[in-house]
Amino acid sequence: MWDSEKTEVIEASRRMEQKGLVTGTAGNVSLRLKDPGGRHLLAITPSGRYYDSLDVDDIVVVDFSGERIEGQLRASIETPMHIAVYQARPKVNAIMHSHPVFCSSLAVDGMEIPPLIDEQVTYLGGEIKISPYALPGSKELATNVVSALGPRNGVIMANHGALCTGRDMREALAMSELLESTAQIYVSALRLGKVNQLPAEVVELEKAVFASIYGESET
Ligand SMILES: [Zn+2]
Repeated sequence: MWDSEKTEVIEASRRMEQKGLVTGTAGNVSLRLKDPGGRHLLAITPSGRYYDSLDVDDIVVVDFSGERIEGQLRASIETPMHIAVYQARPKVNAIMHSHPVFCSSLAVDGMEIPPLIDEQVTYLGGEIKISPYALPGSKELATNVVSALGPRNGVIMANHGALCTGRDMREALAMSELLESTAQIYVSALRLGKVNQLPAEVVELEKAVFASIYGESET
């Protein structure tokens, strides 16, 4: 079941690797599933597998308690983090967790990204926060990420990487690329020695645009 959704997960994971957002088997990708029975389910990449070797049957379907519904392989170690984000954000249908170089540089440095670029605010939701460090796969990491992500579409994870959300898989990938390019711009500007943030009134206007598109209060 859900073969087309599983294929979407595989294709997104391959693009994530091809675009250099991860190396090797790192990172993980998931998609919220519509279950005819009304269960809360997601399809997620398996643990420790190279993305170019994945077949449809390798994608694991789990419910929101983490129990495996379909698939023989072990679901990604970060499954609890994906579940926590889906539970907190009803409009999110796809999640990409990656280890891109510039986001990870800021994750090591501890510098959050202030509002710098128009599209950062309109699409990602504004400033990018850094979730406090917790061990990979831990419940604490899931809690920290949900809290630092807030209503936005991207967050940096201290000494680890990044997580981005989307209303669909394509959007989660686009957000991941946008977050990494924003981090690259910030690191470059810091090296040049001067950072001019967007004017506060522009940030306010663009956050309103963001909320009208992605806001969770909407139905
Ligand atoms: Zn990771």
